[in-house]
Amino acid sequence: MTPKNDIPIYWAPDYVLKGGVETRTKSGPLAEILKAGEVRGVNLIAPLPVTREELFVIHDEQYIDRLVSDETPELIRSIFSSTGGVRDALDAMFVHGRAGSLSSGLHHAKRDKYDGFCYINGLALAALRAISKHGANKVGVLDLDSHCGGGTFQLVGENEKILLADVSCNSFDVWQPSSDRHYLKIVRSADEYLDKVKQALKHLDGVDALIYNAGMDQFEDCTTGGMRGITREVLGERERLVAQWCEDTQTPAMFVLAGGYGGPNLDLDGVARLHLPTIREFARIRINAKSKN
Ligand SMILES: [Zn+2]
Repeated sequence: MTPKNDIPIYWAPDYVLKGGVETRTKSGPLAEILKAGEVRGVNLIAPLPVTREELFVIHDEQYIDRLVSDETPELIRSIFSSTGGVRDALDAMFVHGRAGSLSSGLHHAKRDKYDGFCYINGLALAALRAISKHGANKVGVLDLDSHCGGGTFQLVGENEKILLADVSCNSFDVWQPSSDRHYLKIVRSADEYLDKVKQALKHLDGVDALIYNAGMDQFEDCTTGGMRGITREVLGERERLVAQWCEDTQTPAMFVLAGGYGGPNLDLDGVARLHLPTIREFARIRINAKSKN
């Protein structure tokens, strides 16, 4: 039996491809680490895959059809399973207060196209579902991947119930804030990083629910996205700040993994381990899901 305070985290072997970019390989070793019990209080659950129809809320039908016909069955299975995990984590968050999915490759995807390792924008999907299915009035999307979340802005930036906060270290997929609901900061040195994260959290004050894109590709050893001076300690403190904010404000929250890539000093297991602080911090906190809404 699973203790009731365990955090539900969604993952299935279908998420994992045998090779290629870490976006679709790293959840394999990470799930093994979790199954071995390295983080206490985690309940690993297999999601149901997303359906084509569920995707039409955010993507063009022709784009989805093209994707399914042009890409390999393994990739399609991975995308549909890991997007189902985002949806199931969102629903679980409203029951358990916090939840996660070991999904990556979401925030650059646009309405009608793939971009930067991202095919389906699960963040936009989750934010819209929080409103339509769970009655949230104000949903925050916190994007702390090293790259900007231009796909999410394109898909839900105009939605008056959605607040966006994005702290990046890189101008890839940059977007232009067009409302006081939007916060975007591209940091130029590691010294200012945590301060901007605190400002992003302040910007999200008062939301009913938080969807967190917990990228780790700012880490200085990541070849893609890494910034000198952003160490494991800095990222550990970031995860503590985000999780503690959720607990202090009693805001139901869910996370996905987002970026995190290898380099000369970082193998796939090392990339998977970069994401452990997110899981550890969210397993630690307690949020009463009924406290908002
Ligand atoms: Zn990234």
